[in-house]
Amino acid sequence: MITHPAYPVEPWAVRETYLHHDTLAQSESVFALANGHIGIRGNLDEGEPAGLPGTYLAGLYETRPLPYAESAFGNPEDGQTVVNVTNGKIIRLLVEDEPFDVRYGELRRHERVLDMRAGVLRRTVEWVSPIGSAVRVSSTRVVCLTMRAVAAILYEVEPVDDPLQVVVQSELVANESSPHTEADPRAAVALAAPLQSEMFDHDNAHRAFLVHRTKASGLRMAASMDHIVSGPDGLETATESYPDLARLRVIADLAPGKPLRIIKFLAYGWSAERSVPAVRDQVGAALAGARHVGWDGLLARQRAYLDDFWERADVEITGDAELQQAVRFGLFHVLQAGARGEQRAIAAKGLTGPGYDGHTFWDTEGFVLPVLTYTAPHAAADALRWRHSTLGLARERARQLYLKGATFPWRTIAGHECSGYWPAGTAAFHINADIADAVARYHAASDDHKFEHDVGLELLAETARMWRSLGHHDAHGRFRIDGVTGPDEYSAIADNNVYTNLMAQRNLRAAADAAERHPKRASELGVHEEETASWRDAAHDMMIPYDDGLGVHPQAESFTEHEVWPFDSLSPNDYPLLLHFPYFDLYRKQVVKQADLVLAMHVRGDAFSAEQKLRNFDYYEKLTVRDSSLSACTQAVMAAEVGHLDLAYDYFAEAALMDLEDLEHNTRDGVHIASLAGTWIAAVAGFGGMRDHDGALSFNPRLPGQLTLLRFRLKFRERRLLVEVNHEQATYSLVDGVALDITHHGQTATIEPGARVTLAIPPAPERARPSQPPGRTPARRRSPAGTAAA
Ligand code: BGC
Repeated sequence: MITHPAYPVEPWAVRETYLHHDTLAQSESVFALANGHIGIRGNLDEGEPAGLPGTYLAGLYETRPLPYAESAFGNPEDGQTVVNVTNGKIIRLLVEDEPFDVRYGELRRHERVLDMRAGVLRRTVEWVSPIGSAVRVSSTRVVCLTMRAVAAILYEVEPVDDPLQVVVQSELVANESSPHTEADPRAAVALAAPLQSEMFDHDNAHRAFLVHRTKASGLRMAASMDHIVSGPDGLETATESYPDLARLRVIADLAPGKPLRIIKFLAYGWSAERSVPAVRDQVGAALAGARHVGWDGLLARQRAYLDDFWERADVEITGDAELQQAVRFGLFHVLQAGARGEQRAIAAKGLTGPGYDGHTFWDTEGFVLPVLTYTAPHAAADALRWRHSTLGLARERARQLYLKGATFPWRTIAGHECSGYWPAGTAAFHINADIADAVARYHAASDDHKFEHDVGLELLAETARMWRSLGHHDAHGRFRIDGVTGPDEYSAIADNNVYTNLMAQRNLRAAADAAERHPKRASELGVHEEETASWRDAAHDMMIPYDDGLGVHPQAESFTEHEVWPFDSLSPNDYPLLLHFPYFDLYRKQVVKQADLVLAMHVRGDAFSAEQKLRNFDYYEKLTVRDSSLSACTQAVMAAEVGHLDLAYDYFAEAALMDLEDLEHNTRDGVHIASLAGTWIAAVAGFGGMRDHDGALSFNPRLPGQLTLLRFRLKFRERRLLVEVNHEQATYSLVDGVALDITHHGQTATIEPGARVTLAIPPAPERARPSQPPGRTPARRRSPAGTAAA
């Protein structure tokens, strides 16, 4: 494994102190900038060398056939893949007559900094060409959080010693070639030249645009650029455009101390409906708006947006500087993935890479929205509005499966089911309850009744209808949901998966409650008392299997009777198991890819006793191999709750460092947005012990030995709550808003505005650390305060 050796620990930045060619693609993902609409990988300005060039627009995809060895009814026929759209970040440089290319000549200095407060990526380079011309190049990139169609780059070049001539080519490039991705079946499918030119043009005022349409999906996109060029007298400029290329060329004779400065404004837009002139004008207008605000204005707005975000969302950790950086890095990427999504899906990799074909999964509702709900609630609502906009497709899919209501896709970009493997796709019905849970959580945390009326109720009702038709009351009156796949993808088509059933139970109740709150809207949706009563019955009678002999919950019925996977016979190279063992065998044995029953104990913690949680946790630790990045954060939360604080700390670190240390060896394809969200979850729900069952906030904070302080903020019903935790006590206060009731370790308290309520933390129970499958123990972080373990 190659990990990036050059990211020093800083609280507000990720800095790369030299260019490491073997980890180029990882850095491109880590340094990606996005606003939920536009995503730009951290490729070098000059385009090469590149790990994976990438520029993405949320929701813009190409269709491709999904091939099957054997056909089966209900298999989706087409897949959707994110498109690498027109690249507007390319700025090539010729120094005298040598192309600026860090692979040649001498690279004296190369530094990149992702500044999480300014919201920019800065690069500074000092390079000597093969014939000895030395230049200093710097660039600053921003993808605007305040203007969703806009990105901008400030590019400067100056000679170090002697005067010299430079030629800068600032470009828009469509259909750029992409190196092949690795043979990992989960990695992206490369798409060759997906864009067809429809229009291109330029003027003599440094402006140009390209309009394209995707070949099969027929989506139209436009990219445009404008520039402000300044430098010494005698600058020569020219602009040109072709179907797949537009270019501004600047020729300058430079002297030391007299740089050439180019501000490049970029605007992007796409539409399935609008005409070529309409899309062209859309980006033209966005560009004019950006130029009007100006470079300094864009940066000032970006900073103000982020100041406001951090004030609401920051998590401060004392005692582990590396995790402090990681938790902010996670939050920054979660914000970038969703901030301006505005009714487009939030993908598993955000807009940072082509991994998982750019699809969204349950990751978003299960892990990302719980974070956005309390830190950037508008973004959570927007993501759910996107789900709502796909209800038509979800209803159609339910009809195809002979189910009532709506069935949302396991993986998709535009709302169509794109999973070609039904046992871990279609059968993973829990995604519907995850969506419902996100709706109920957002409503409870925001009191946004209009959202519930317009969007939430229909999502809840249609998913409740699906559960009612998928399950049935058996002869004993129990409501069973048979033949489904829970979160653990090493088990499939099981009966009464506890996670699924408990989440469906909450879905059914939430739908009935929301219908009662909005009787008129409910009746418009055809929801009547008889139906809500049947939802409540199903919820009441929900079957939750329990193994009396072992005294634990089986993840699904009879799971605990299966043979235990022969872990002792495995070597470290056998992981991830899905790449080395057949699913038939994984499915019939006790081996857990990712938290499933343990996740149920977090999100439906109200359905388990403390004793059950402890026994279940220890039981599933021995079986869980964490072949998914969606596991460590949940294990951190439950380890903390049951009292394994050191273990929780280790899992917290694993979730937090997933991408900064490339723990799954695939950060090159994009960062793991849900695991990054999981860092916040592990801190706030793990060590902060925050739970939000039934819309009430409770906290059971407890820190591991190494951390001395945890401070976090939550946005909750028009209030900002600040929670500060040390080893002895927790202090709750309101930054703004009216009084709030909370529960602290079972004790209720009212937090009045202006007051600081300090409550003692009961001592942690003594617990023996549970074991994991051999070789799957998380790395220990038992170092003294402030430093990280090796
Ligand atoms: C996990 C799924 C997840 C998907 C996308 C898989 O490896 O098992 O739970 O939704 O990755 O992140």
